[in-house]
Amino acid sequence: MGEIIRSEIFSLDEYTLKQFPHRIKLNQNENPFELPHDIKAEILERVGAMAWSRYPAFVPQRQIEAVAQYAGWVPDGTLLGNGSNDLLQLIFMSVLERNQTLVISQPTFTLYRILARGLGADVVEVMMTPEFTFDVDGIIAAARRTEARLVVMCSPNNPTGTLMSEPDVVRIVEETESLVILDEAYVHFAPGSLRHLMMRYDRLIILQTFSKAMGAAGLRFGYALAPVDLARQLNKIKLPYSVNIFTLVAAEVLLSRWDRLKGWISALVDERERVRAGLMRLRNCRVYPSSANFLLFESLNRKPADVFASLLKKEILVRDVSSYPMLGRGMRVTTGTPEENTAFLQAIREAL
Ligand code: PMP
Repeated sequence: MGEIIRSEIFSLDEYTLKQFPHRIKLNQNENPFELPHDIKAEILERVGAMAWSRYPAFVPQRQIEAVAQYAGWVPDGTLLGNGSNDLLQLIFMSVLERNQTLVISQPTFTLYRILARGLGADVVEVMMTPEFTFDVDGIIAAARRTEARLVVMCSPNNPTGTLMSEPDVVRIVEETESLVILDEAYVHFAPGSLRHLMMRYDRLIILQTFSKAMGAAGLRFGYALAPVDLARQLNKIKLPYSVNIFTLVAAEVLLSRWDRLKGWISALVDERERVRAGLMRLRNCRVYPSSANFLLFESLNRKPADVFASLLKKEILVRDVSSYPMLGRGMRVTTGTPEENTAFLQAIREAL
C-alpha cells in the first residue's frame, strides 16, 4: 500500500471516533434540541416536491444570499459547503503544499493538523498558556519565522472553550503575511462574531457551521465568509453540488424560522454555566471558563479513562481529551438538555 498511497497520508494515524452504547450523548458538541416537527415536515414536503433526478443548481444563489444575509457578509464572498470541514479542506488544498507551513495553537480541533499533514505541509504548533489562553506573541513569531502560508485560529476554541479577542485577531492578521482562518464553529454561544473584520482585511476567512447552535449536524452544512477575490479563487476548485438539495432546502427553511429557534442558544448558555458551577463545587475537578457549548474540565484524582468508563456505565458519553497536547487530565462535556445535564452532574460527582 505504501507504494500507492502518498507517503504523507500513509504515515498518518487513523482519524477515528469510537462509538459506545449510550443514553445521554455529550461527546460531539451537538445541539441537544431537535427541530420542531412542523419545521421538519415543511422541509420534507418541499424536498418531496422537487426533482431528485436532477442536480442541484450549479450555483445555489438563493441559499447563498440567505446565508450571506444571515451572516452579515456579501453573497460573492460566501461559500457553502458540506459541513465546514468541507470548506476547511478546500481552503487547505488551495493554500498548502510541501515546504509550506500551517501555524495552529494547541490544544485545538484535530482536523487542522491532519489536513495539513496529509497535504505534506509542515505544521507548527504553539502551545496555549497554562491557563489555556492563546499565546498570541508565540503564534505571530512562529508565522513570521516560518513565513507560514496559513494560520488557523479556532475561537471559541475546541476543546478549551477559549475566545480570542478582537485585538488579538487583528494583531495576527496585521503582524503576519499569512492567510488567517478564524474558525467560528461555536461563535453563537459567545458574545459575538468578528466578521466585521472581514471589511478591513483581504487575508481573513471566517468559517461558521449549522452543526452546533443551528442544530443541524446531521444535515452537513457550513459556510465560509471570504474576501471576494479569494472566494473567486477558491470557487475555481470547489466541487460543484457538494451540498445536496435536501440540505439546501433545510438550510433555507431553518433560516426562515430562525427567530422561533434561536432561544436554543441562551438556554444552552445558561445550562453551560449551571454545569460549570456544578463542576466548580467538586473537589477533584478543575473546570475552565467557556464561550462555547461545552466545558473543558480536569480530573485531578482519577484518570480520565476511568472517569469516562464510570460515566459510560451510567450510559453518559463524554469526550476523553487526555491525548490532546497539554490535556493529560482533560475531559470535555457538551451542554445537553437540562435533564441530561442534571444526570451528568449527578454521575460525575461519583465518577471523580
Ligand atoms: N470546526 C470546529 C472547531 C469543530 O469543532 C467542528 C466540529 N467538530 C467543525 C469545525 C466541523 O463542523 P462541520 O460539522 O460544520 O463540518
